[in-house]
Amino acid sequence: MDTTAKLTFILDNADLSQELRGIALKVQQKERITFDEGVYLYEHAELGFLGVLANYIREQKHGDKTYFNRNFHIEPTNVCIYTCNFCSYSRLIKNKEDGWEMSVDGMMDILKKYDNEPVTEVHVTGGVVPKQNLEFYADFFRSVKAHRPSLHIKALTPVECFYIFKKAKLSHYDGLKYFKEAGLDSMPGGGAEIFHPEVREKIANDKCTAEQWLDIHEQAHKLGLKTNATMLYGHIEEFKHRVDHMERLRQLQDKTGGFQAFIPLKFRNQNNQMEHVPEVSVVEDLRNYAIARIYLDNFDHIKAYWAMISRQTAQLSLNFGVDDIDGTLDDTTKIYSMAGAEEQTPGMSTRELANLIKQVHRQPIERDTFYNVVTDYTDFVFEEDVKPQYYKLPVIN
Ligand code: SF4
Repeated sequence: MDTTAKLTFILDNADLSQELRGIALKVQQKERITFDEGVYLYEHAELGFLGVLANYIREQKHGDKTYFNRNFHIEPTNVCIYTCNFCSYSRLIKNKEDGWEMSVDGMMDILKKYDNEPVTEVHVTGGVVPKQNLEFYADFFRSVKAHRPSLHIKALTPVECFYIFKKAKLSHYDGLKYFKEAGLDSMPGGGAEIFHPEVREKIANDKCTAEQWLDIHEQAHKLGLKTNATMLYGHIEEFKHRVDHMERLRQLQDKTGGFQAFIPLKFRNQNNQMEHVPEVSVVEDLRNYAIARIYLDNFDHIKAYWAMISRQTAQLSLNFGVDDIDGTLDDTTKIYSMAGAEEQTPGMSTRELANLIKQVHRQPIERDTFYNVVTDYTDFVFEEDVKPQYYKLPVIN
């Protein structure tokens, strides 16, 4: 049964509540659901129902295409002046001896390791420290572009930008313009956490506010920089806070159209000050992806970080609205592993990523940062797959 037939099947079910039928009809007619309907879905909708709706939207937008990119991360520091309670990464207070602060040369050394690799993007984000200021990053961006002009630089969340621009006495717009002129190509979506002050003040009370986060993205969009947006879910927030978070993003997207992907990030409870807060189940992860796909009708992509949620859940998520599972990573990020993610040394070859997607009957598409197709791996045969395999057989005398 295809997704359209599945949606019709659901609508034909006489036992479906009036509220859920209304939402399913809106999805079928490509209408936007309201804030209250978003909360209703979180409170009442079962996984199977959500999967049908989210998959319908996903396949209307992308068919079976599932995107990934060849990227690596540079994390300039894991020391941070802020004190977010959920953070497993910052080494300012605990385990200071494990902290690192890189120089521009050190970051360039990492980058040069990829000189002969077909990566398309470097993803740069980390903690916030005074030394890594406006000139530090502008120097780095210029050095990257001088060394490898075609490499896309996706760097710095509003948390880093807000601090850097404040210190440099620049407006958000002028700071971003300066970075763009130095080589910045786009921005990741981190630091959003949960926008609502009832939650933000409890989990991240000393970094940029929701309004500042949103303004930095708005200014980036004005400058023609594409960005992503995240949401840290599954801790002390209520469903209405998740919907409020997505509502603010949906409104900004209506205004600017500058967001590319929405990335729900699962709260992990290891090595942080919220170890007493239980993690949500995989079922809740999938429900959350699906509701995000339904709610954010003006976002093209819903992305799952396979390194954070495990390879198997990433495969499952492709039936719940997700169309992008991020990149090869090459074990260059510690952000997820330090928080207790299953993948402690995250990295997958292109072949592994493509096969992961093919195993669940989707089309693996390597993309660049702007979702242009680099390679369609649907019918691609990897060299390793055609090499004759020799097995050592036991010798019987
Ligand atoms: S989450 Fe980010 S801003 Fe908050 S303490 Fe950790 S590194 Fe710093």
